[in-house]
Amino acid sequence: MNDKIWTIGRILKWTEQYFRDKGIESPRLDAEVLLAHVLEKQRIYLYVHFDEPLQPAELAAYREMIKQRVLRVPVAQILGEKEFMGLTFKVTADTLVPRPDTEILVQAAVERLKAMKGEKTATGVLADESAAEEPAEGQPAGGADAEQEVAEPLHIADIGTGSGAICLSVLRYLADTVADTVDISPAARAVAEENAASLGLADRVTFHTGDLLQPLVGMTFAAILSNPPYIPEADIATLAPEVRLKEPHTALSGGQDGLDFYRRLAKEAPAMLVPGGFMAFEVGIHQAEPVAALAKANPLIARTEILPDYAGIDRVVVAWRTKE
Ligand code: SAM
Ligand code: GLN
Repeated sequence: MNDKIWTIGRILKWTEQYFRDKGIESPRLDAEVLLAHVLEKQRIYLYVHFDEPLQPAELAAYREMIKQRVLRVPVAQILGEKEFMGLTFKVTADTLVPRPDTEILVQAAVERLKAMKGEKTATGVLADESAAEEPAEGQPAGGADAEQEVAEPLHIADIGTGSGAICLSVLRYLADTVADTVDISPAARAVAEENAASLGLADRVTFHTGDLLQPLVGMTFAAILSNPPYIPEADIATLAPEVRLKEPHTALSGGQDGLDFYRRLAKEAPAMLVPGGFMAFEVGIHQAEPVAALAKANPLIARTEILPDYAGIDRVVVAWRTKE
């Protein structure tokens, strides 16, 4: 960059070319997102202020970001945050950047938990004879017992929670839900805890550091959710440098065939589900059928579902525990 006046339009053009020369996949978009962040504006602002000069402090901050980006630091790590399910999550080099595909898992879980809640509420009201009576003055219909039945929260688990994106989104969209999360990385746990606090959910989540389901032994859940590491070890070398070099290896590697974590979850998780509960996992390409087969091999699993992502790739496996 030389000493000419750097306007918004000029610096975007320069950065776009520089990023393109360095092999960045979406050079213009990245340039805009980073600059908008420095200026604390929406991207649209840039388009109507191309002639506005940058202040020296803004220029210095932007230069720093450009340097990071050409080192292949993901945009979300540079900004320190990522939007997921309409919410803002803090991310660091210790957490996987939440991916749009993972929203499929969240949506699937929310829909199914909602249906379970509906069934539960209906049963609660029907079971309570006082529900049919006129409420006493100042008392809600259904009496205190029915109220308690309705208010009892569903309990979910998120295994390998990373930034907390999955479980915190579910909690945010479903009132009367509480969660336990596990991650092997204490640094990720710290980020997830910060996200819980900033989303106002800290009192509904318990965070654990440990290996898969181990910290939760003895507990039961309406749903066990996980986006575990699933990249086959040999494929890691083929991933984009942003992922391969800058995201945590422990968040990516699923062992030789990528299925290591599903083997363990399929074996251990069903016994930790309430009757009629479900487990739901994000899976990598070509993994849905084998993962569904692993789940079905557990006698506690009654049936499975496979759901596609936005690109039509099978992305989520849901496995239901028998109702008994
Ligand atoms: N749930 C987040 C999401 O969807 O954005 C992060 C998913 S990332 C693919 C997998 C996470 O599993 C990482 O945060 C990693 O630290 C964690 N992990 C890896 N091995 C684990 C283990 N043995 N027990 C618990 N968590 C583990
Ligand atoms: N979706 C991530 C990627 O393709 C991998 C996440 C995972 O292993 N669960 O880079």
